[in-house]
Amino acid sequence: KRRIGVMTSGGDAPGMNGAVRAVVRMAIHYDCEAYAIFEGYDGLVKGGDMIKPMQWEDVRGFLSEGGTLIGTARCMEFMERPGRLKAAKNMVLKGIDALVICGGDGSLTGADKFRAEWPGLLQELVDNNELSQEDIQPFKHLNIVGLVGSIDNDLSMTDATIGCYTSLARICEAVDSVDTTATSHQRAFIIEVMGRHCGWLALMAGVSTGADFVFIPENPPEETWADDMCKIVKKHRSMGKRKTIVIIAEGAIDRNKNKIKPSMVKDILSNQAGLDTRVTTLGHVQRGGTPSAYDRMLATLQGVEAVKAVIEATPDTPSPVICIIENKICRRPLLEAVAQTKEVAVAIDNGDFAKAMQLRDAE
Ligand code: ADP
Repeated sequence: KRRIGVMTSGGDAPGMNGAVRAVVRMAIHYDCEAYAIFEGYDGLVKGGDMIKPMQWEDVRGFLSEGGTLIGTARCMEFMERPGRLKAAKNMVLKGIDALVICGGDGSLTGADKFRAEWPGLLQELVDNNELSQEDIQPFKHLNIVGLVGSIDNDLSMTDATIGCYTSLARICEAVDSVDTTATSHQRAFIIEVMGRHCGWLALMAGVSTGADFVFIPENPPEETWADDMCKIVKKHRSMGKRKTIVIIAEGAIDRNKNKIKPSMVKDILSNQAGLDTRVTTLGHVQRGGTPSAYDRMLATLQGVEAVKAVIEATPDTPSPVICIIENKICRRPLLEAVAQTKEVAVAIDNGDFAKAMQLRDAE
């Protein structure tokens, strides 16, 4: 029987548990054995009890739980070859030759690197007398399948990552709460939201709450943004609006690549627009809580597809990442998706915002 390992890695995202549940149960359905690797790559490097067989009932109740019940971690050891060597040995000892990894672009890059090094790692273990030729014989190829778990919706080639719609809903709820007090006191609120290099959460939160102004990393405002923002805000006020909401993505920058800090925007709205202004940083509440129906559905459908991808993989197929494009679950080459994602970050870093926007548009 084939043994398929499943792990969650990098930042936690609501829906990851649904993905683990789907992979475990689909593996069992296809007459494979399912293993959970606890605490991300840490578990793979440490081995032993960190890699456990999973039965159908072990994932009962997972669908509606937030975060990740099998744990996640940032693992420095796996970044280096000696760490990956230990991971390869543990895989062989446990008899696992397929990994489904639910994580962000970092986790997926690490996974593909692991696959590329796989035969070499095994040979090195034999050369070091840690494993025998017979031990490694059945493990010629490693199958890697990526599932994108991230609240940021920052991976190229997929319309939505597992967790992003739950996070967006949480942000909207928080902005709604702030709205009531803002309206009562006619205040302005600056709300900083997560997203790293990606402005999706900030932009969609702005659209969904009717914010007055939004700052995102991919499309920094013109140099005159302070005046422009005050003009817009004052116009809205003159039309009878009693509150002002400005949303800032955590990665927001100006055209000279200086970070746009909530405190700066607060000073501008206070001093130039004469508004009683407060700053609210939502922080980790954005990550947590019960996954939305959409994320449960996405995680389940994609977990099912991931196991199918493992079963159908051939030595020549590149590692796939499971995506959703125009509402269809599909597979894309993992490395291409990661490379395109990095291109956006590089474009932003180089101040090439037209390219950053074009790449995001193409997604
Ligand atoms: P995310 O998956 O959310 O982007 P990270 O970038 O922190 O989060 O990656 C999670 C883990 O994946 C890291 O702690 C590390 O163990 C592994 N990883 C990330 N990038 C690489 C890489 N280039 N090579 C090997 N492992 C990596």
